[in-house]
Amino acid sequence: MKPICTMISIRHLSKTFRNPDGSANTVLKDVNCEISKGEVISIIGPSGSGKSTLLRAMNMLEPPDSGEIWLNGENITAPSYPLETMRRKMGMVFQNFNLFENMTVMENITCAPVKLLHLSREQAELQALALLKEVGMAHQADTYPSELSGGQKQRAAIARALAMQPEIILFDEPTSSLDPTMVGEVLSVIRHLAKLGLTMLIVTHEMRFARDVSTRILFMNEGVIYEDGTPDQIFNHPVHSATKAFVNRIQKLVYEIDSDYYDYYQIHTSLGRFCIKYNIADKNDLVFALIKEVLFEHLRSVRPITVRITHAELSGVTSLDIMVADISVSPLDDKARSSLGAQVRQIIEEPTTRGFRVKLIV
Ligand code: ADP
Ligand code: MG
Repeated sequence: MKPICTMISIRHLSKTFRNPDGSANTVLKDVNCEISKGEVISIIGPSGSGKSTLLRAMNMLEPPDSGEIWLNGENITAPSYPLETMRRKMGMVFQNFNLFENMTVMENITCAPVKLLHLSREQAELQALALLKEVGMAHQADTYPSELSGGQKQRAAIARALAMQPEIILFDEPTSSLDPTMVGEVLSVIRHLAKLGLTMLIVTHEMRFARDVSTRILFMNEGVIYEDGTPDQIFNHPVHSATKAFVNRIQKLVYEIDSDYYDYYQIHTSLGRFCIKYNIADKNDLVFALIKEVLFEHLRSVRPITVRITHAELSGVTSLDIMVADISVSPLDDKARSSLGAQVRQIIEEPTTRGFRVKLIV
């Protein structure tokens, strides 16, 4: 007997694709997992580890080769189980929204409940409006998807999934195809749904979001659930080294500057996007000012220089590395050091195998 609190039970799920050369690519290897009502589970892991395939196998967009999925005591992978019923119970939100472009937002949200839940048009529209209010889109009900921003499309898609009154919603990287400026609004909506107690399974690359919103984290690696635990366990005390390496990964932006003919404005633009993407917009101006100061003043005569901005998502440490090749002493003089030191938290200077590095922790 299964414990009563289990809502979904994934048992021995396996899936193999054929590569073009005929060889086998086993993407899900005997995946087992129990999900209880009200859990908010984030699935993290490297690209290609099988995260999307797991979600797609769960709602039969990619039927598994073997294994079973039980939902509230029913085997929804049984051949006799109606696909439509199963998909109604498990909503899905895709990376690319998948809205019907020829329908307004309202029509997108009401068509399935009218057809499959047998709501009257009026009931369906009332429900849709209430859901659009929840996602901040009530004023866009009569708009077509092509007139919406990416963030608005995704919020409409979330309302559409909710309209089927599903038992669980599966999100497959809901913010990955959004402009960085719009990631926040979609994550806020998902945070709001988590507070309402919805059961959700979210594939995401947003580590801080996953840590803050989830009750549980699954780390997928090479087709298996490699580690399963609370956010504290997975992010702060991971058992496996692969989990540790993944959660502590560092994002970086690198510029090679070998003469004075470099596109200073392009640096400004890409740095701005980087800072928005990793939620450090407040550091943008300082980092840019530091780059400018180093390149135009303190190290004006030194070329080539590699400028690297790194950000550790989880610890929140951002640093600006200035790397000068083929020298073994710091290229900064005392005046430069005191000027930069007044603006940053820490300056670390060290020789490297290829030259010298000045690291400014901002
Ligand atoms: P993730 O979402 O973790 O990045 P995926 O589940 O999308 O990983 O993919 C895992 C592996 O399965 C990849 O090697 C991918 O190329 C392969 N794959 C996914 N979908 C298909 C498909 N429809 N046909 C063939 N191979 C696929
Ligand atoms: Mg994927």
